[in-house]
Amino acid sequence: MEVKNRNPKNGLQKKILIACCSVLVAIVLSFAGYGGYKLATDFNKINPKDKEKTPSTATTTTVITTTESVPQFWWETNSFEELSTDPELNGQDDLHNGELLLVNSSWAYCGNSEDISIVYDFRDGAPYSVKDRDVKLRLSVIYKLNDMMTDFNKATNQRKVFIESAYRTKEHQQQLYEKGDPNLVAKPGFSEHETGYAFDLAVLDNDIRLDFTGEGDYAWIPQNAHKYGFILRYARDKVGLTGIASEPWHYRYVGVTHATYMYENNLCLEEYIELIKTYKYDKEHLYIKADGKTFEVYYVPADPRAMVTQAPIYEGVSYTYSGNNTDGYIFTVDRGEGFTPPDFSNKIEETVTVSR
Ligand SMILES: [Zn+2]
Repeated sequence: MEVKNRNPKNGLQKKILIACCSVLVAIVLSFAGYGGYKLATDFNKINPKDKEKTPSTATTTTVITTTESVPQFWWETNSFEELSTDPELNGQDDLHNGELLLVNSSWAYCGNSEDISIVYDFRDGAPYSVKDRDVKLRLSVIYKLNDMMTDFNKATNQRKVFIESAYRTKEHQQQLYEKGDPNLVAKPGFSEHETGYAFDLAVLDNDIRLDFTGEGDYAWIPQNAHKYGFILRYARDKVGLTGIASEPWHYRYVGVTHATYMYENNLCLEEYIELIKTYKYDKEHLYIKADGKTFEVYYVPADPRAMVTQAPIYEGVSYTYSGNNTDGYIFTVDRGEGFTPPDFSNKIEETVTVSR
């Protein structure tokens, strides 16, 4: 990103150049006035190509090429309004809800449990099975899961995927923590399963439960999950960042736009949340191509001094937002098909012609 160049030196250099030109023009005129013919003869001696030219009709032209910054950032060319009530970005609530929440050993979950639904009731005939009626997810996530498993079945003819575990209350996580290995089971409050956006897959083969490895036919899932908004949350090469051993069975919903970017750039959620913070609302924004459309993503830090953060938004453009569960909000603007992101090189070649 280029910082705007409003260096007064540029203006001064221009003035000096123009002044020099004027002096040159004055000298040329003096020669033309006092000894035009002689000068023309001398020029002809130096360069025969200039025979047709006479000094009395010569034009002094100086071309100055400068690099000027032009407004290209979104707030310079677009109007946005400061919102006070819609969306109400409440530091106690909105910061801890949404598809992009970061929940790990450092960041506890404290969001709501809206739309948590029994997967079995909304499976709608999709080709997968569910452990029991205690397996729950947010309704929007169940619909995406149905779509993914339907397409997986079309591609591979497999229907043995089994949803073993999904939403857990803090109390449920407490029980698992007490029963299990504390090095392997997340502390109550710090499990992504408490968000309602995560689930564990297994394979049920003739009533025999097998670990989901994401290999063979099942490799279709890690390769295509992003198209449905899911990420493989604990990848083998990200253990140092997630703090969780490789779990090929654990998927997390973050939305198609963000899952696509993370998949294509091999980023885990910890890395992605950090990256988004560099696309602050008043800086360059992140443009993501997903699902045949362009999405514009920017970050609004939560105001630590206020209960409510004022978030700048575009007028008349559809958008969604999510808290990141740590320190701010991520806005995702739907720019539709055929949108060309602005050129953030922020430079043009400007040509100034000075002539007599
Ligand atoms: Zn899990």
